[in-house]
Amino acid sequence: MEFAVPLEASPQQMQDAMPTTIGFDIGGTNLRAAVVRGDGTIVERMQTSSDGSVKAVEDGIVRVTERLYAMHPEAQAVGLAVAGFLDKDRQRVRFAPHLPWRDADVVARLSPRLPVPLELEHDANSAAWGEYKFGVAQNVDNWVLFAVGTGIGGAMMHNGEIFRGAYGTAPEFGHLTVVPNGRPCSCGKRGCLERYCSGTALAATACELASTRRFATPLVESCLRGEVTGTDVMVAARNDDRLAVAAVQEFAHWLGQGLALVADIFDPELIVIGGGVAQAADQYLDTATALLGRYTTGAGYRPLPRVDVASLGVDAGLIGAANIAATSVVKNSRT
Ligand SMILES: [Zn+2]
Repeated sequence: MEFAVPLEASPQQMQDAMPTTIGFDIGGTNLRAAVVRGDGTIVERMQTSSDGSVKAVEDGIVRVTERLYAMHPEAQAVGLAVAGFLDKDRQRVRFAPHLPWRDADVVARLSPRLPVPLELEHDANSAAWGEYKFGVAQNVDNWVLFAVGTGIGGAMMHNGEIFRGAYGTAPEFGHLTVVPNGRPCSCGKRGCLERYCSGTALAATACELASTRRFATPLVESCLRGEVTGTDVMVAARNDDRLAVAAVQEFAHWLGQGLALVADIFDPELIVIGGGVAQAADQYLDTATALLGRYTTGAGYRPLPRVDVASLGVDAGLIGAANIAATSVVKNSRT
């Protein structure tokens, strides 16, 4: 199928003319995929699990693509959102902590097995692109995605383009050292921001507070048994568990510090909070935003970024990856 987009097309005409594509969100043991129309609408979903080996992940991508393509032969390309470091040309996955690829030429390996062209993108970049095209960051050209889940994912849009740095590594806000010799991090360092400001960190903070014995609440016993998740702490805080409320306050404090670091480094117009923790934003965002105003250098004498919550939820990555693939189809049809 040909895609003729007028060279002088308006942004709306461009969006209307974008082809349907297939987007993937590649997790360690879970592949989520969807057929996505040019306007960002999901028309078909599919999910499969793998044992995490290279063969299982690659076979899963091929199998799901073939099945979705059989149902939607109008799909023109595949976009993969990958949680890992890519090379600058987005052909290889250099390293992915939760995926089996190590310096793997993924596009060259998979392309011959797929019926349509393949694009790779970092998962946070994909989510940012999704929010920029169809979500909360539409028409904002300089902004930062700060995605808080088990860790912190980051992406930055600069003048309407994904900022890739010199070597293609997306921003790693989560591993900025904020507490010298602080909590150990899976990256090998200590005191990284995501050890204090993530869903995992929220549970760790609650358990640290529980061990002080300053609180006598239902959450204390769960903490002492080591059976607490960040979600448990958010739920308990909503029910006024004092230990949980204190842990969420500490999380909000660190988030405010993190947002101020982002504002100091990038001076964005908007910071979007994404990731699993975004769902509970009403419990901490006002505090964190107030602290952003306190900790940003020169606050009171400069415009501060707006802070908002991501609107595409867990689909942001695959919608963004699908649209990146669609954009590539349109570009290639012109050359
Ligand atoms: Zn770290």
